[in-house]
Amino acid sequence: MVKELLRKLSNAHGISGSEGSVAELIRGEVAPYVDEISEDPMGNLIAVKKGDDFSILLAAHMDEIGLMVKFVDDRGYVRFVTVGGWFDATLYAQRVVLHGEKGPVYGVIGGKPPHVMTEEDRKKPVKVDDMFIDVGAISPEEVGDLGIEVGTPITLDREFRELANNRVTGKCFDNRAGCAMLIRTLQQVESPHTIYAVFTVQEEVGLKGAKTAAYRLNPDCAIATDTTIPGDHPGIERKDVSLLMGEGPVITVIDNNGRGLIANRKMIAWLRTTAAARGIKVQLEVGKGGTTDATSIHLERGGIPSTTLSIATRYIHSPVEVLDIVDIEGGVALLVEALKTEPKF
Ligand SMILES: [Zn+2]
Repeated sequence: MVKELLRKLSNAHGISGSEGSVAELIRGEVAPYVDEISEDPMGNLIAVKKGDDFSILLAAHMDEIGLMVKFVDDRGYVRFVTVGGWFDATLYAQRVVLHGEKGPVYGVIGGKPPHVMTEEDRKKPVKVDDMFIDVGAISPEEVGDLGIEVGTPITLDREFRELANNRVTGKCFDNRAGCAMLIRTLQQVESPHTIYAVFTVQEEVGLKGAKTAAYRLNPDCAIATDTTIPGDHPGIERKDVSLLMGEGPVITVIDNNGRGLIANRKMIAWLRTTAAARGIKVQLEVGKGGTTDATSIHLERGGIPSTTLSIATRYIHSPVEVLDIVDIEGGVALLVEALKTEPKF
C-alpha cells in the first residue's frame, strides 16, 4: 500500500551524503522485483530490470534536506550548518535527531521565549546562524560521549501522520514521495525494455548523484520522479503556480524558467498519450523555480531525452509537507502503463 510505504520512507532519515539507511530500506522493498541491484561509488542505489536494447532511466532522489554539526561550544550547545534549501524561520523551535556514532540523539533548536524578547527581537525572524541545538548536555565532552562530533548529520524529528481526505503529512515527502512512486512502479511493471531505476544521492545540494548515474548507464531516455509546488493554499495565486494537489501527477514542460530543464517534447507526448488512453489525470508544469534530477541527466553524454513526473506537495522544504496519496497512485499507474511502450523519437 502506497500510504504505508510512504510512512516508512518519510520516517527514515538521510540527509544529502548520508543516504545509507534510506538506501537499505529501499533495497529491501525492491530487491525481490529486479534482476540486479547495486550501489555505485557515489552511493546511488541502482536497480535493473533487464529487457531489450532500449533502456529507460527512472530516477528518484533519496536524500532529504537537513543540518550538520559544525561546532560544539563550551556549554555543550551544538552549532550547525544547513544542508539543502531551508527557509531559516522553518527551523526555529524544531525537534531534531543527531545521527551520531552511537545511534540517534535527540535535541531541540532553542531560542529566547517571547517574555524576554525585545521589541526589535519580535520584529525579525531568527537567523539560522544565531540558532543552536540543545541536546541536554552541559559540556562538549558530554556531547562527544553521546557520539556527536563535527560532521554528524542531523534531521528533523517529525513523524508521518494521516490527515482528512487521504491526505498525509510528514517530513521529506521531497523526495520520499518520488521514491515511493518508483518503488511501487518497480513492483508492478512488466516492460519489454531495460529499466534502470536509480535512487539517487545528493540531489538537494546540486543534482549530483543523477549526473554520475546517467553517465554510467547511458540510457536512451529518462524520467525523474520528484515533488513540486501546488498553488492551492493561502498565500499563493494560481496565476503564479497553476498546479493543484489531488489532480494527478505533474509532467514537467520546463523548470526554472527553462534555465534548468526544457523537457523533451516527445517524452511529454509519450506520457500524455498514455495517460489519455488510460484515463489517468495529469497536470503540466511550467516552473519558475526549482530543478530536479532530470535537469542534470538530460545534459549527460550526447544529451538524454528527459522529463520529470512530480507529486504536487504543499509546504515543501518544511517538516509539515502535505500531499494526496491519490497523486502517487496516479503516477504509478502512468509509469506502469507507459513503460509497456516507448517514446517515439
Ligand atoms: Zn526533490
